[in-house]
Amino acid sequence: LPLLAKKNAGANVKVVVRVRAFLPREIKRNAECLIEMDPESQTTTLHPPSSSSSSSSSSSERKSRKILESKSFTFDHSYYSHNPSSPHYATQAHIYDTLGEEFLDHNFEGYHTCIFAYGQTGSGKSYTMMGTPSQPGLIPRTCEDLFERIHEAQREMPNISYKVKVSYFEVYNEHVRDLLVAPKVDAAATGPYYLKIRESPTEGPYVKDLTEVGVGSLDEILRLMRAGDGNRTVASTRMNDTSSRSHAVFTIMLKQVYHDFETDQTTERSSRIRLVDLAGSERAKSTEATGVRLREGSNINKSLTTLGRVIAALADPKKNNRGGTSVVPYRDSILTWLLKDSLGGNSKTAMIACVSPGDYEETLSTLRYADQAK
Ligand code: ADP
Repeated sequence: LPLLAKKNAGANVKVVVRVRAFLPREIKRNAECLIEMDPESQTTTLHPPSSSSSSSSSSSERKSRKILESKSFTFDHSYYSHNPSSPHYATQAHIYDTLGEEFLDHNFEGYHTCIFAYGQTGSGKSYTMMGTPSQPGLIPRTCEDLFERIHEAQREMPNISYKVKVSYFEVYNEHVRDLLVAPKVDAAATGPYYLKIRESPTEGPYVKDLTEVGVGSLDEILRLMRAGDGNRTVASTRMNDTSSRSHAVFTIMLKQVYHDFETDQTTERSSRIRLVDLAGSERAKSTEATGVRLREGSNINKSLTTLGRVIAALADPKKNNRGGTSVVPYRDSILTWLLKDSLGGNSKTAMIACVSPGDYEETLSTLRYADQAK
């Protein structure tokens, strides 16, 4: 197994944006597309809705018109998925080929990786991560490619063997729920079953007693994922919350074992693949919230803002490497604390900012978030 090169400390974070297609109801009401993408420069421009520049003008309208301007942002990639008939239309396969595949390469090289989908509810996060049976997203495509590579390697290199395990948990209100365990029937009465977080001197932070299942095929993984998503829905319905308020973390653990027949020694290389569907970002600034909703909102806010700060710190080589002492605020939220091993250090991170084609305010806030994470 070749040694890992610890290079490109500042180039370990990728930030991309994807605009989704219009939904049937948006097409019905003739929704206007506010997003323009330039495939040459990877620039995404957000335009104000044309109604906001009409000539009828009360003073508040004038004021809001002043705020609403066209804004441009440049990302590592701008995925144009809003118009299926455009030659630049980014399909699910295109996103895997230009992002997912590269990250799986890193995993086989021994790096931990983390891909996040960020955005308001309905912006295409789960479509991008999970997709649909006919349009599978990053997670099923990563798993399919993973097993194809393993089977090919095993045909060609009998001295390498592989072990794959998966776990699936969600972070809700700064608590961790195991999605591979069916929620208790009386969860609404007794409270949900939360797992504890521990820290190991060698492995760092981890979830105690989290279910990890060994898998040998794509089908097995997909079955577990579906069960996990089912548990997520059941738990959230029982607890009277919704899954858009939790962060779902799917983890694939890949272990490569190399057996040197001459010396009879084995070398192991382990990497973790984290695929994270984040809570809807609109909750972060919910104003009408009180009580539980307020706590929930601020906890989601805490995870999302901390994540933004962590990624920004990692993308900034000055902060990342300052004298070896960490100024990366992992500890400020459960999500970033648990993902510490997969963020920074010897790992690669991608943030996919998902946006709707016709929502100025939410899209602007998502693009700003993604921009500061660069
Ligand atoms: P989120 O997970 O952010 O709440 P979803 O992934 O559920 O959003 O997407 C909302 C709706 O938009 C779903 O019906 C989904 O199928 C559809 N959708 C999202 N992205 C795309 C896309 N790129 N092309 C076509 N439909 C999409």
